Amino acid sequence: MNNVHTHLLGFPRIGANRELKHALEAHWRGQSSAAELEETGRALRARHWAQQAAAGLDFVTVGDFAFYDQMLGQIGLFGCAPARFGFAAGQTDLAQSFDLAQSFAMARGTGGRGADCCGDGGHAHGNGAALEMRKWFDTNYHYLVPEFSEHTTFSLAADRLLGEVAEAQALGHPVKVALVGPLSFLWLGKERDNAPGFERVGLLNRLLPAYGELLARLKGKGVEWVQLDEPILGLDLPPAWRNAFESCYWQLAQAGARIMLATYFSPLEENLGLACRLPVAGLHVDGVRARHELTSISDWLAHPKVLSVGIVDGRNVWRTDLDAAISVLAPLLEKRGGALWLAPSCSLLHVPYSLEGETALDPELRSWMAYAAEKLAELATLKAALGGRLDAATGAALAQARQAIGGRARSTRVHNDGVAQRVRALGPADERRNAPFAQRQRLQRARLNLPDWPTTTIGSFPQTDTIRAARAAHKRGQLASDDYETAMRAEIAHAVGRQLEIGLDVLVHGEAERNDMVEYFGEQLDGFAFSAGGWVQSYGSRCVKPPVIYGDVARPRAMTLKWATHAQSLSERPVKGMLTGPVTMLQWSFVRDDQPRAQTALQIALAIRDEVADLQRAGIGIIQIDEPAIREGLPLRRARWDDYLAWATRAFRVTAAAARDDVQIHTHMCYSEFNDILPQIASMDADVLTIESSRSDMATLDGFGRLGYPNALGPGVYDIHSPSVPGTGAMVRLLREASRVIEPARLWVNPDCGLKTRGWAETETALANMVAAARQMRAAT
Ligand code: GLN
Ligand code: ZN
Repeated sequence: MNNVHTHLLGFPRIGANRELKHALEAHWRGQSSAAELEETGRALRARHWAQQAAAGLDFVTVGDFAFYDQMLGQIGLFGCAPARFGFAAGQTDLAQSFDLAQSFAMARGTGGRGADCCGDGGHAHGNGAALEMRKWFDTNYHYLVPEFSEHTTFSLAADRLLGEVAEAQALGHPVKVALVGPLSFLWLGKERDNAPGFERVGLLNRLLPAYGELLARLKGKGVEWVQLDEPILGLDLPPAWRNAFESCYWQLAQAGARIMLATYFSPLEENLGLACRLPVAGLHVDGVRARHELTSISDWLAHPKVLSVGIVDGRNVWRTDLDAAISVLAPLLEKRGGALWLAPSCSLLHVPYSLEGETALDPELRSWMAYAAEKLAELATLKAALGGRLDAATGAALAQARQAIGGRARSTRVHNDGVAQRVRALGPADERRNAPFAQRQRLQRARLNLPDWPTTTIGSFPQTDTIRAARAAHKRGQLASDDYETAMRAEIAHAVGRQLEIGLDVLVHGEAERNDMVEYFGEQLDGFAFSAGGWVQSYGSRCVKPPVIYGDVARPRAMTLKWATHAQSLSERPVKGMLTGPVTMLQWSFVRDDQPRAQTALQIALAIRDEVADLQRAGIGIIQIDEPAIREGLPLRRARWDDYLAWATRAFRVTAAAARDDVQIHTHMCYSEFNDILPQIASMDADVLTIESSRSDMATLDGFGRLGYPNALGPGVYDIHSPSVPGTGAMVRLLREASRVIEPARLWVNPDCGLKTRGWAETETALANMVAAARQMRAAT
């Protein structure tokens, strides 16, 4: 008889209506007590478990809930807070988990987390006390980075987790506990204050007893299965890390509970044999991204180990093709002697909660989609179908899925022959500027007539309450389009006026009319849709609502032209046209799964390219195409970097190459590490590249110098993420340092990112100091 089980790796915790976000923020404002916040958490967990039970999952998953972040939760669970917080070992009763105040101190620092700039998420800095945030693999979720040193000790503080287990059991649910496994936990952390030669993998022997004790205690509480996530098995691992797996899991095998080792986001490749050999009771693999490995994994995974197949895409919002899934699963089921577990490919943290109440999407598009709740229903249908229970409801669900999948594949809303043809027709000349940089530079100098050490900003100026209120009122229909437009034109005039007063050389219009740098363009492009409630946690209480790219992308009409020409009409000085690049548009959206990302990127590139052409025709002399997300799109495996970088940089070049030689193309990138992809960044051939670098004291620039970056460069001379106003002297020092690496004729002077999160007062002083710094540099050369 078939024995098909269903489970999930993790569930979105923010709540159907972002209850957790609102509760957290109320608590941080001092409007609710810790007990009230705990109660919200308890209610959300109960609701989410009930939903899992109702979908017929064989277990509810406990341990995926966190008030801020699951890695932070594990720092608490294993009592390894960095010493600087003052509640590390010896200073707190370690039998007890950290309380909320302690957790939030680590997450936000004692002075609160600094404002963040970059579209989808934040940078971890500010007062320096908070733990660093990093992107969770290639997702847009940010986790808090554990810190390890040779002094790190671990001791189990499981009362919070055990409390949640007891809660679920009291509600009558069979429980599977999910945690990050010990090797991924150490890998995802960083070394701090470490002695020479210290490597955090060496902490494994200290950490394992805590895991072992936990597994034993969970077993004692009647928890049969514990899921340990080791997604790093999908990465290029150094030998020391790979070799640690076997002994690690031999030790954990002694502890009792049955371990479901969970991998996701990436094929296992050279770690496939290792993962199958480990002495665990089950292995979960990503059946979406590693589908081609399923057969060999099934061959290698000895009975009676359980194979869990992540067949439903946990990273995207599309409905599963259930017929295709069944044809993958049926032979596996047979191979496994009738025993198989089914799950989403990864935690559902990365998709929105439920399509119910999704009012903004049109019904046809909606019928093609599945959020977390709908993905659970898909698992139930698959379980019934594979288990041979083809009752009426299952039949109906399969038929409905078939219809939606078929409809999407054939829809004219998805396919636009004109777009496909344009992409096919792209030739090498379409991705090349006419003349090489040196020649363009001469033409642009003649046209723009800028001083040495030209000053500029990255694009946005403060998004004031007035601006936000006007946009909200316009969206609600309470402010007529004409009035909204008048208000935005006034904001632009205001921003231009202030920049002239400050004395900047190259101006921007300030982006007042933009809610978000991706959404603003997506809303005006065919092929993009916007949901009403498609929120996904980004970090802490912060959520994003990524656009959904569902069809061929085309630009029906100009998107920025009227604002750009208005801004340019206000000044003799050049005002940059401001666009978002194709890779960033792609990276911060849910993308199509019916064509390669590269194809979608080229379609977006062509749409933005048309905007470049319109702007230059209207006399705009400088156009910036932002690509802050180009680095974060890098695949998890090195072997796939070249392929990605080839199409990503090509998409940028296709966008930019519409520009005549005398039109100056700028681009901007956030995040400071570029050294390993510098040749590819150079291949984008932007005339001017502005980067974040103030926080690394220009260290990033060394690479640009060493590797001979050929074009002009604007290393950020001050950190816009902090409200403190930089002094002229500090900026002069940074510019001097920069000029040791890049000759001054190729250097620009600018902050390290957009200013939309800052206030006007600090912005004006900071920029005035920056302009003074540029003047000092001019005087000295
Ligand atoms: N032009 C954008 C701005 O200034 C760039 C933002 C970003 O780098 N994420 O806001
Ligand atoms: Zn930036």
